[in-house]
Amino acid sequence: MQKNDIFQVEIKDIGVNGEGIGKYEEMTFFIKDAVVGDFIEAKVVKLKKNYGYARVEKVIKPSKDRVELKCDIAKQCGGCQIQQISYERQLKFKEDKVRNNLLRIGNFSEEEIDKVFEPIVGMENPFRYRNKAQYPVGTEKDGNIVIGFYAQRTHSIIPINNNDCKLGTKENAQILDLIKEYMQENSVKPYDESKKKGLVRHVLIRKGFETNQIMVCLIINGDKLPKEEKLIEKLKKVEGMTSISLNKNKENTNVILGKETVILWGEPYIKDYITLNDVKRDEQGKISFEKTDTKVGYQISAQSFFQVNPQQTEKLYSLALDYADLHGKESVWDLYCGIGTISLFLANKAQNVYGVEIVEQAIDDAKRNAKLNHIENANFFVGKAEEIISEFYQSNSKEKSNTIKAGETDNLVDSQMMTPDVIVVDPPRKGCDNLCLDTMLKMSPSKIVYVSCDSATLARDLRYLCDGGYQLKKVCPVDQFAQTVHVETVVGLQRVNY
Ligand code: SAH
Repeated sequence: MQKNDIFQVEIKDIGVNGEGIGKYEEMTFFIKDAVVGDFIEAKVVKLKKNYGYARVEKVIKPSKDRVELKCDIAKQCGGCQIQQISYERQLKFKEDKVRNNLLRIGNFSEEEIDKVFEPIVGMENPFRYRNKAQYPVGTEKDGNIVIGFYAQRTHSIIPINNNDCKLGTKENAQILDLIKEYMQENSVKPYDESKKKGLVRHVLIRKGFETNQIMVCLIINGDKLPKEEKLIEKLKKVEGMTSISLNKNKENTNVILGKETVILWGEPYIKDYITLNDVKRDEQGKISFEKTDTKVGYQISAQSFFQVNPQQTEKLYSLALDYADLHGKESVWDLYCGIGTISLFLANKAQNVYGVEIVEQAIDDAKRNAKLNHIENANFFVGKAEEIISEFYQSNSKEKSNTIKAGETDNLVDSQMMTPDVIVVDPPRKGCDNLCLDTMLKMSPSKIVYVSCDSATLARDLRYLCDGGYQLKKVCPVDQFAQTVHVETVVGLQRVNY
């Protein structure tokens, strides 16, 4: 076989990146945009010794799981990897991915997994779920302004049909049209990455799904927008508009936001709420969610981190809380706490919560949000989770072996912190540091709740914790990112012999 050869193949499996997998003459082919069950004509793109890459030339017989694309640029754009697969099949793919990683990387047996695995929590509507969008702004060959997305693995901007990305909110298209209009009417130039000239680099739009408040921030290579009042005039007419700002980024960098944000009109924040849900299970174990009256409010600035899919986030965190099984007297660590989203949920049900996060600004947000919600039993620390908990643990062990002198008790670490009832972790993709896992084992809480955005590192860490004296109680994947290959998972662990 050679590059550009055409062959026919049946797609038998899905790869971790959502690509179709088929065999032809003892060679395994990874084929982008092919769906399991498709019979296709494929063209060889790249050959290795016993595998290769190909692309779909023609779908001869489509799979029953193949669906029509909702978006014309889905194939070029880096955003959706599996829009061509039915949502039901996407969910099965994600469930299998988590199971396989537990099996292969975590070395858990099928029986162990079956006993604890809960069915994946899918979305009611797998489109229009993102509350935040960031669009690069540029110039097309013909000189026209283009606002769109980067094509996969490049920095060339592809225009979105009618400016309407189907993962984002309906208002985004209207807002982008208005910004384009303002730029054309006032000769405001898009930024040109190669020449490092021009003004408007990106548009950031956020929406509070509960409050319907909208924030627009233009990221510019400069200090001021010419005739900014013209832009404000247009944008403030959009229903829900609450905050219009500009962010200065004059660096030659891929990082979207610069350090300084200036408010042009309205508030510096939008507000949104995440509602705590009761988790119910029917006789078959199928999970359903019932909204409670407990809501946590968050002020979100242009720079703040906030979960992009609020409807699924509330399910994810309600499950985490369900697994933590708190009754009001517990002390809980929330490691990798970000802006305290989970911590503030936990604080409603625990005696004390201690959140740890490496980004100082996120901790400022967490403290502000705690105040906003009149939560007084949440404490936050800036630093690496592994360092903070091991330092606390060591200093407390020393204190125990020394006689405590009068007057020193104020400096004592609260012993509750050293013997937490529950530790919750929500690390980035690389998972938990070993020192973090070791210290968790030493602190020996009765329960650990692990929230993960990468089931491979999750499986690795779960094996470590289970070898250290814990057992899996429950595992549940939650789909936060429909049309993409990503999946979140919540795991409940229990100390053995507890
Ligand atoms: N639980 C939060 C955020 C989870 S994302 C939420 O739901 O909003 C993971 C977080 O871990 C990020 O905020 C990141 O800044 C933080 N982080 C990364 N490495 C860390 C470390 N070594 N110690 C503490 N926090 C870390």
